[in-house]
Amino acid sequence: MQTGYLVDFEVQEDGKGFLPRMRSLRHYGFPWLFDRGRLLLWHQWIAGFEKHLRDTETLEPFYFELLLSAAKRWDRQNPKRIAIEHYVALLRHEGRLYPLQACYICDKPLQKKASLMTAFKPAHPECIYAPAYALEKLRFLFDEGKSLLLEDDELSHLFETMRKGL
Ligand SMILES: [Zn+2]
Repeated sequence: MQTGYLVDFEVQEDGKGFLPRMRSLRHYGFPWLFDRGRLLLWHQWIAGFEKHLRDTETLEPFYFELLLSAAKRWDRQNPKRIAIEHYVALLRHEGRLYPLQACYICDKPLQKKASLMTAFKPAHPECIYAPAYALEKLRFLFDEGKSLLLEDDELSHLFETMRKGL
């Protein structure tokens, strides 16, 4: 059970460079693998990676390092916090981190509060009818890679936004 997920991941991924490294991940024996709540969140998070990386032929070490870094911290903080910080690192690595300047929908400047769409594209809360976050909190997340200004309920909203598509 505790390794089931990672095995599933191997079966579904046939990127040659990625597989041996994912296998080695099983041997770390993370303590949170026995914590149902944390394991469930891990599954939910990783499911997004499976979709995202499915068509990639060779996976860069970056993705493995990213997952390993998250796995090592998964039981030390709110896992959603870790997932979101690592997701921002992924967006930055892929050149997809959208600047926090204009609304993705109407192209007008953002105000003091902004919402985030799929792939964390910013928008006016009234343009997408979504939860609003203080822009300064999002800036700290996007610029510093740190989620510490965000509250747990905000992290939960962001986690759901992330799950809609990496
Ligand atoms: Zn707008």
